[in-house]
Amino acid sequence: MQLAETASERVLADEVRAFLSRARLRSEDLPRELDDRMVALRSWQAACYEAGFVGRAWPSEFGGGGRPPAEQIIVDQELAAAGAPEFVNVVGLDVLGPSLLRFGTDDQRRRYIPPILRAEEIWCQGFSEPEAGSDLASLRTLAVQDGDTYVINGQKTWVSWGQYATFCGLLARTDDSVPRHRGISMLLVDMSSPGVEVRPMTQITGHAEFSELFLDDVAVPRANLLGQLGDGWKIAMHTLGHERGTAALPRQVKLRTWLDRAVSVAAHRELDGRRVLEDPEAQTALARALIGVEVLRHHAYRTVGEFLSGGAVGPESSSVKLLMAEAEQRLAATVLDVLGPTLLSGAPDETAENDFWYETYLYSRAASVYGGARQIQRDIIADRILSLPKE
Ligand SMILES: Cc1cc2nc3c(=O)[nH]c(=O)nc-3n(C[C@H](O)[C@H](O)[C@H](O)COP(=O)(O)OP(=O)(O)OC[C@H]3O[C@@H](n4cnc5c(N)ncnc54)[C@H](O)[C@@H]3O)c2cc1C
Repeated sequence: MQLAETASERVLADEVRAFLSRARLRSEDLPRELDDRMVALRSWQAACYEAGFVGRAWPSEFGGGGRPPAEQIIVDQELAAAGAPEFVNVVGLDVLGPSLLRFGTDDQRRRYIPPILRAEEIWCQGFSEPEAGSDLASLRTLAVQDGDTYVINGQKTWVSWGQYATFCGLLARTDDSVPRHRGISMLLVDMSSPGVEVRPMTQITGHAEFSELFLDDVAVPRANLLGQLGDGWKIAMHTLGHERGTAALPRQVKLRTWLDRAVSVAAHRELDGRRVLEDPEAQTALARALIGVEVLRHHAYRTVGEFLSGGAVGPESSSVKLLMAEAEQRLAATVLDVLGPTLLSGAPDETAENDFWYETYLYSRAASVYGGARQIQRDIIADRILSLPKE
């Protein structure tokens, strides 16, 4: 399957490129300080929305573009190829927005979808807890009905962009008398509610991209229940399928741009009196990294192809998620190996490039954890795709 194969899709790709060459904004040009970075990222997403490049395939009655899903993928790939910043409301766009569209009432869609698209309201995802990550169904955050509200008590962790979020799509136990998967519901929590406390956590990269979230008698109106009571597990699986599957196409484009960049750095830098890229071992390692990216590209096309022809994002998204993590981690580790001591050169004109590769390597460690750990993806593949017997 090829994207941008019809005449109108090629026109769209040209339109995005023209927009990007006018905007001239690359991720690396953003402010380093996180608060300033968020301001810049919000206005970037708003500008892209005005240009018709955000929520292009979402229903037009809720502010989307009403266009075929393939067009959003074309846009996302062009943005990735140009090194443009990712949309700041990634959790709203890729994770909770699709669930709101699928399971929300019309009132909820009208209320929440347009500000997600314009990055006016940032969303976060409150699934994981200190004792419930891979085994998500063991979550202990409780929501107890009290008249027209649910009162929530509990703790969430690893909440990406929690400190900037206006709303959280939160999983809580609403019934502990039924089997555990059936007693979970999804609530839309206003992060400014009394009793919500957010504590940012600094990652190995030095940025505090995610937070712990504490909920102490937080009252949430019944109208903020997404789907039916007890639908939380079903909605979470839909949400995670999107998170795991549809991000892979733009990601593989981005990985390819990183690889091309590493090759060009290796072609210029010298180690022991010769160009790094002339070393046969470096060539082999970079070729292996390229194979990883190509394998990801083909798998991602297949999964997305099924999605575009009307299918759901199914368990195949787990194999794409696995390959995405492997390709990213192999690429980042390869670049560190290949460029080796040249990364320590200390030459002022090389500092920004070296910092980019350190950060890329450190962040790549998260790829086999977020959206569900590597072993869990393997379990899903064994169980739901290969139908292997239980251990
Ligand atoms: C960058 C990043 C962003 C994130 N953002 C969010 C977010 O916004 N919202 C949110 O809710 N969560 C978020 N997470 C959390 C993420 O979903 C969890 O980290 C993940 O599900 C794993 O859970 P855990 O960290 O509790 O690890 P654990 O579940 O404790 O797992 C630890 C290790 O044991 C392995 N393991 C566990 N169970 C099994 C098993 N049955 N068989 C074999 N091996 C097993 C795991 O694979 C892993 O290697 C984020 C994580 C990262 C890294």
